[in-house]
Amino acid sequence: MNLSRRDFLNICKTSAMAVGLTALDILRLEELFANGAAPTVLWLQGAGCTGCSVSFLNYTASAKPASAADILLDNVNLAYHPNVMDAAGSSAVKIIDDASAKGGYILVVEGGVPTAFGGNACVAWTRGDKDVTFKDAVTGLAAKASTIICIGTCAAWGGLAAAAPNPAAVRGVKAVTGKNTINIAGCPPHPDWIVWGIAKAMLKQVGTLDSYGRPKALYSSTVHDRCPRRGTEETHTYGQDGRCVKELGCCGPATRAACPGTRWNNGTNWCVDANSLCIGCTEPTFPLETLRKAAGVGG
Ligand code: SF4
Ligand code: SF4
Repeated sequence: MNLSRRDFLNICKTSAMAVGLTALDILRLEELFANGAAPTVLWLQGAGCTGCSVSFLNYTASAKPASAADILLDNVNLAYHPNVMDAAGSSAVKIIDDASAKGGYILVVEGGVPTAFGGNACVAWTRGDKDVTFKDAVTGLAAKASTIICIGTCAAWGGLAAAAPNPAAVRGVKAVTGKNTINIAGCPPHPDWIVWGIAKAMLKQVGTLDSYGRPKALYSSTVHDRCPRRGTEETHTYGQDGRCVKELGCCGPATRAACPGTRWNNGTNWCVDANSLCIGCTEPTFPLETLRKAAGVGG
């Protein structure tokens, strides 16, 4: 059977919906939001590249909410986000202080937490004339949060920001705060996973987590489990369409992520189909394991 590109993309999108939100989820979110009962969401950014925020802003779907703008207008009460809020300076700090006084918010953290130099390698904001380090901001807000969501591998375990030699001693949120976190892993995570994680946290329906704090609904199978190149002849050089890239260091067999089904850029493609490797970006070992494999040490 020959599939048209449109059929193919529809199948891809259907796969994405397997880990997506249901119509009932959307309805409940809209009701929460309309009734003023949606929890406040505070999104902090620490030691990272802002790529997770960019990924979220790239969210797109065929039905409403069809974009990040739809989500922010109709579904999620995102009170604080350094890139998209219009507040700045003392009015932005007041948002944090008001939410902190009330408690019960969802704390979203993007980026790792620098712990060396008294935390002064990363400043979250200035209150009065006093800098508040990202470490103190996360630690303080984590104490009164109903839920803490790490968006991206840096917030979850340090990720690229904690790569050797890591002079700022960057660590993940749980390691610094001692609080359990829901880890939406990836460098960056797919927009569908980010939206799913925040929405399901609001609905209290994240479900069980694996031993690394990742929702099993998103991270139960490995990339290799669902890879369309599984069982094909392994290639020893780059640029070979349709052939398994395990010999080149593909981390797919040890990486839990839904990429072969979700695909990226609105279902257009994903790492292996672009003849690249899975570099294991959803794992706590990232980027160390990737570098080991690239050096031929990891096997
Ligand atoms: S390309 Fe990677 S993920 Fe795909 S079958 Fe080969 S080893 Fe597995
Ligand atoms: S295929 Fe691997 S490296 Fe690529 S986005 Fe998915 S988990 Fe990350």
